[in-house]
Amino acid sequence: MSTSAREARRPEHRLSAAGPEVGIRYRIVPIDPHAHLFEVVLEIDDPDPDGQRVRMPAWIPGSYLVRDFARHVVAIEARAGKRRLDLAKIDRQTWQAAPCRGTLRLAYRVYAWDLSVRAAHLDANHGFFNATSVFLQVAGRESRACAVRIEPPPGIGGWRVATTLPRDGARAWSFGDYRARDYEELADHPVEMGRFTHARFMVAGVPHDIVITGRHDADLTRLARDLQKVCAAQARLFEPRGGKPPFERYLFLVMAVDEGYGGLEHRSSTALLCPRHDLPHAGMKGVPDSYRGFLALASHEYFHAWHVKRIRPAALVRPDLSRENPTRLLWIFEGFTSYYDELMLARCGLVESTDYLKALGHTISQVLRGPGRLAQSVAESSFDAWIKYYRPDENSPNAVVSYYAKGALVALCLDLEIRHRTGGARSLDDVMRLLWRRFGRAGAPGTDRSVDGCGGDGADAATTAEGLAENGFAPLVLEATGVDVAPLVEAWAEGTGELPLAAQLRAIGITLELEGADDGAPSLGLRLAARPEGLAIATALQDQAGMRAGLSGGDVLVALDGLRVRDEKCLKSMLARRRAGDIVEMHAFRRDELFTASVRLQAPVLTEATLKVDDRAPPAARLLRRGWLGPRARGGA
Ligand SMILES: [Zn+2]
Repeated sequence: MSTSAREARRPEHRLSAAGPEVGIRYRIVPIDPHAHLFEVVLEIDDPDPDGQRVRMPAWIPGSYLVRDFARHVVAIEARAGKRRLDLAKIDRQTWQAAPCRGTLRLAYRVYAWDLSVRAAHLDANHGFFNATSVFLQVAGRESRACAVRIEPPPGIGGWRVATTLPRDGARAWSFGDYRARDYEELADHPVEMGRFTHARFMVAGVPHDIVITGRHDADLTRLARDLQKVCAAQARLFEPRGGKPPFERYLFLVMAVDEGYGGLEHRSSTALLCPRHDLPHAGMKGVPDSYRGFLALASHEYFHAWHVKRIRPAALVRPDLSRENPTRLLWIFEGFTSYYDELMLARCGLVESTDYLKALGHTISQVLRGPGRLAQSVAESSFDAWIKYYRPDENSPNAVVSYYAKGALVALCLDLEIRHRTGGARSLDDVMRLLWRRFGRAGAPGTDRSVDGCGGDGADAATTAEGLAENGFAPLVLEATGVDVAPLVEAWAEGTGELPLAAQLRAIGITLELEGADDGAPSLGLRLAARPEGLAIATALQDQAGMRAGLSGGDVLVALDGLRVRDEKCLKSMLARRRAGDIVEMHAFRRDELFTASVRLQAPVLTEATLKVDDRAPPAARLLRRGWLGPRARGGA
């Protein structure tokens, strides 16, 4: 690796604004975009005299799955001065260098071809990385400051850099020197490089940038105007006085692709992946569902800047990146965020309240379609996210409940319960604000202390930035609202019974109607998937008709009563002509073996939810509904 010429420039790097004590320096170069390789050099000035260990994280905060990022380290070597050192791999993610004096220097390459928000990606069009995919942690020195030099790709001009990593000499949007207070901060500022479009808006004096990479024709003016409303509403939710967000700037890093979807939250930025057609185009009227989906994604990740990045479960305050860090509280941190992401779009007036109720109906249907809600609680789902929710298989709908979707419905039920019991005087918003004052504003990492009221609120200011204890939620709700929700948390979050959605919604003048899918046609109790080999069973739903007749996930359906089943539409038209209780012969392949199953068709399960505003609801209910949707909500409700 040709690094010696650059080494000569090292002194100013050492004596950078991060201070002369900075003894850990990273340098990253998108060295070979066609081979998708970043080159990284890590220098450690005072390595462990017993032999320094370095480790690649196993996971990235916000995405609760061990991904073993070390598997993309392609080549690695260690040197002290000119001398090459032995470097032993001692477990799947850790290396140990032979003891040495002076600066230890590690050089390695990282294969970056994961087009997601969680890892790293590089080609001749752009580069993207999270530190957890490219920068080794220096064992025992994770809390030390580090310097980071980001260099341009050799032979490619015109690239810029977008990141909220603090600059340490680099000019805005440029390659150059950056710094981080510790590895946790380093890992919390993803970096995008390439040619991108850019728009800016302000929230309470704080600049917010939107950077879009990938081909697109998005109306940036519209996008900035709409996101401004969402962000301002969220900042006001947490900080009613002044509405100032807790960071000095915020960055939406958007990668526009043909298909793909995802977002990952960070302390002052988010990485989003979305279909380019979800972005608004010039002259677009209203908010189509696709754009509403994008706004909800952006809203979700932005809400996380408070809720999970600063208000954190105690189990994730000092996460160990080498192994799973389970908590039973993801239903609060992901579920509540999922509840507020769409709700805030209605509250700030971007989305008609009827469209919001439609989206809420979809969430209810999503939960009701999965028998897994009766097998696993959202608290269990949170704890086992690492091995279940993030590792779905054909049985997941039967065994796993989403702490996002059901967590959002638990949030809804808690919110409506608090509003009902306090006559509208208190709500889940008060709970969020107390969580914020208690665990976030008082000094979580990355929090701008100039936030209005920060540190000046008596008892609240005296609290530390520790996280929410596993059993800390119900007492906090009691403190914030005077409502004892402990039995409800026990039933709704720790238990697997049905949520009282219809009753809760009725109390605010909204009716919940449930019907079967496919206009009430009889059902096989299967989830289907179009695959190259034909119409496959994705899941045979628990204790439903297909499973009872011996059909299974992975079987390929070929005929019903001797007639070929070409696709799902064809199958549905056949079922529509039959009645519940009829027995049909399903012909199917399991692997290469043809077999027949006699299925007694079942009445459709009532999973499809429709929410409607009840105009005849009593005035008290209507008042609660208006408080819930907020004064800016538009349309009917
Ligand atoms: Zn989330």
